[in-house]
Amino acid sequence: MTVTPDIHAPIEHTKLLIGGEFVDALDGKVFDTINPSTGEVITQVAEGSAADVDRAVAVARDAFENGPWRRMKPNERAAALWRLGDLLLADADEMGRVETLDQGKPFAFAKGGDVPSAAGLFHYMSGFATKLEGATIPISAPGNFHTYTRREALGVVGLIVPWNFPLTISAWKLAPALAAGNTVVLKPAEATPLSALRLGQLALEAGIPPGVFNVVNGYGSTVGQRLAEHPDVDKVSFTGSTATGRRILDSAKGNLKRVTLELGGKSANIIFPDADIEAAIAGSSAGIFFNAGQACAAASRLYVHDDVYDEVIAGMAEKARQIKVGDGFDPTSEIGPVASKEHFDRVSGYLEVGKGEGEVVTGGARLGERGYFIEPTIFAGAAPDARIIKEEIFGPVVVASRFSDTDDVIAQANDTRYGLASGVWTSNVSTAHSVAARIQAGTVWVNSYGVFDPSMPFGGMKESGWGREMGHDVMHDYTDVKTVCVNIDG
Ligand code: NAP
Ligand code: MG
Repeated sequence: MTVTPDIHAPIEHTKLLIGGEFVDALDGKVFDTINPSTGEVITQVAEGSAADVDRAVAVARDAFENGPWRRMKPNERAAALWRLGDLLLADADEMGRVETLDQGKPFAFAKGGDVPSAAGLFHYMSGFATKLEGATIPISAPGNFHTYTRREALGVVGLIVPWNFPLTISAWKLAPALAAGNTVVLKPAEATPLSALRLGQLALEAGIPPGVFNVVNGYGSTVGQRLAEHPDVDKVSFTGSTATGRRILDSAKGNLKRVTLELGGKSANIIFPDADIEAAIAGSSAGIFFNAGQACAAASRLYVHDDVYDEVIAGMAEKARQIKVGDGFDPTSEIGPVASKEHFDRVSGYLEVGKGEGEVVTGGARLGERGYFIEPTIFAGAAPDARIIKEEIFGPVVVASRFSDTDDVIAQANDTRYGLASGVWTSNVSTAHSVAARIQAGTVWVNSYGVFDPSMPFGGMKESGWGREMGHDVMHDYTDVKTVCVNIDG
């Protein structure tokens, strides 16, 4: 049954979650969270400070050292994480409502996309709790030794997440961190503080002990910074901009905490003349316009072979004009607003830059007077060093360029400091694999774009980051290896 969400129903959780209790900030401060479809205040949320981070970290430390989580049988930890996935699915209507109110994305996507993909993360990662295995090692040193490795949790992990996929990106980090037996303090983005609090409530209901998963909302410059620099936090995992990623590294160096960075991108999407053009047009449009372009892996640079350039650009322009942009709770909306006034201003600035650097094929303006809506936009003909080709816009804006030579398009695709993702459209199997091998990016999609799965490692090369989310590889980022060498000669 389709439930029509009541956008005015109260929001259940707006305080900080520390030690299993929803509590006010120590100094009692609150901030407004805004619905980007209307610009109106949804509710007020407790605004944490450095002192709140300190108490959340102390609680997480105690839960790690003295609580049951790390000592639980692995299958009990797995069962709790699996239950959290189930509870999320059962809560899809309310969790979807909260995410749409706060972030703006269409309710059908929040409920039918973000919630199940977050649940899928908990289901998939729960299995690692019972599979954190070491190795026995036949060493050659003189003597007689039984030598083996143990995979151990790191301790207290700080998670700092952005506002484009607040729930899903939280799950990307939480699920493996918790499966390994760590305890965490999560800082959501100030623009989207709500879904993490609801997730915290569900985690308690799933049997994840109090203090294992704490949530401190607040600003990056206070809460985020304190979490990244905190001497008793063992690791920080961050998703956001490359500039903030550098700041996190500076903050983290005090205690040399482990750092995972999932940063921005300016992903090249290449259409060869032998591609299925209809599929390439549809996939490339979804690749940039999905989530109003607010995706780190968005297909924001489009390279089309001369032979099919006019056909592809005409097709994409038609698709862009047909996309229904509107309020997240209008069931006909295909994309919503961008997530905040601040980000709207940033993307609008790039629209003006783009008009000076290239030709507007379609779009290029704000939509309506209320809320933060931007027309799906295609620019063409910008020079390779134009800002709109070099810089991450993070909005529904793609920049199209022509190519005629494979070596040349690979050089252009790799001519960026980013290396997050890429797309290749071709019917030639040799082109597909050889181009995939030569592109400097953490993920290459062939004849598809934006396919994510909990089993697929995701992360950046170059300045797009350090480490991986998801797949088996992520478990290396949330555990350490201990070598035990036992003299068995008595
Ligand atoms: P951002 O600054 O990187 O924010 C991401 C997270 O980091 C937020 O929770 C933010 O907190 C926090 N933060 C900010 N300053 C911090 C600091 N000094 N120490 C610790 N944490 C800190 O991103 P933004 O300013 O919102 O967006 C800027 C650009 O980043 C976008 O235009 C886009 O290009 C890129 N971006 C990339 C991704 C991605 O998925 N890779 C996601 C979002 C944005 P507050 O927001 O609460 O202050
Ligand atoms: Mg908001």
